[in-house]
Amino acid sequence: MREYEIIILGAGPAGLQAGIHTARRKHQVLILGKSQSSALFQAHIENYFGFRDKVEGKELLLAGFEQAKKFGAEIVEEDVIRLEKLENGAFLVETEKGKTFKAQALILALGVKKKKRLFKNEDSYVGKGLSYCVDCDAWFYRGKRVAVMGDGSAALHGAKTLTKFASLVYFIPLKDIPDIEELKGTSVEVLPYKPLEIIGEEEVKGLKLEGEKAIEVEGIFIEIGAKGPLELLAPLGIELDPETFTHVKVDSKMATNIPGIFACGDITGPPYQLAKAVGEGCIAGISASDYLKAKKST
Ligand SMILES: Cc1cc2nc3c(=O)[nH]c(=O)nc-3n(C[C@H](O)[C@H](O)[C@H](O)COP(=O)(O)OP(=O)(O)OC[C@H]3O[C@@H](n4cnc5c(N)ncnc54)[C@H](O)[C@@H]3O)c2cc1C
Repeated sequence: MREYEIIILGAGPAGLQAGIHTARRKHQVLILGKSQSSALFQAHIENYFGFRDKVEGKELLLAGFEQAKKFGAEIVEEDVIRLEKLENGAFLVETEKGKTFKAQALILALGVKKKKRLFKNEDSYVGKGLSYCVDCDAWFYRGKRVAVMGDGSAALHGAKTLTKFASLVYFIPLKDIPDIEELKGTSVEVLPYKPLEIIGEEEVKGLKLEGEKAIEVEGIFIEIGAKGPLELLAPLGIELDPETFTHVKVDSKMATNIPGIFACGDITGPPYQLAKAVGEGCIAGISASDYLKAKKST
């Protein structure tokens, strides 16, 4: 397991700016995430300070990426699938390809997750048997039958986790997943059929699959794309904003309620703007650096 002083989760403008500030302060810094998944990648920017003419978001990202590397930040373009608190205030971070890293401080710059809908009426089942977060909700499905569907390692990981709680776990791949072999030797039953419709009037009772097949389940977990902030952060006990429970709560130094964990950018709430993401990335980077300095001197 490689160790860093600071690990930054997210390679959008907030994460890269935090990387620039921490690396320039000579910390050992690792940035995890894919710039191409940043909201900025699709944007044409006309309202960012210092650019009189329109600039493409992807151009800014590429420049920020190179700039962070130039100052010594390492970047691994993989999604994070698990976070854990270790002894002595350190943190463990696991990526989709099974790499593990340890850090003394974390900066969360994961943006906001855009939810893709798979089924019509999907929203009406949320909290009534449909979940997007295995780590948050697995406990509620003790002894029950569940189906997990997804397109990557986060979904495989979710299916394996659920075997510790549910009486039966089906896994429905939504595309070819090279690592699906990982489920061999587990009790997960793979069903290679396209899911068509959720069955159940008030709550989830089952799932219709292509080929006129159907399964009876009380829980459905959808894991599409990278793990969103809420799913990832659940095991750490990070406090969310008390009104919407959709953003990480931070103080004026971008510190969360957990010592050593900072957050910046869209993940801390609106306005979803590049200038805010970059400004908060700067503050989070400086605060994480100050935190480490104080920790070392005690
Ligand atoms: C179409 C569009 C147009 C926009 N136009 C403007 C504009 O004109 N002006 C303006 O100011 N703003 C605009 N924005 C908003 C701006 O792009 C965002 O506010 C900004 O990108 C937020 O930065 P961020 O770093 O917080 O999040 P993001 O840029 O979304 O970056 C999040 C990062 O986290 C990573 N990540 C997510 N999950 C994981 C995981 N599990 N493991 C590891 N990494 C993960 C992603 O891969 C990505 O690298 C626009 C956004 C969009 C979508």
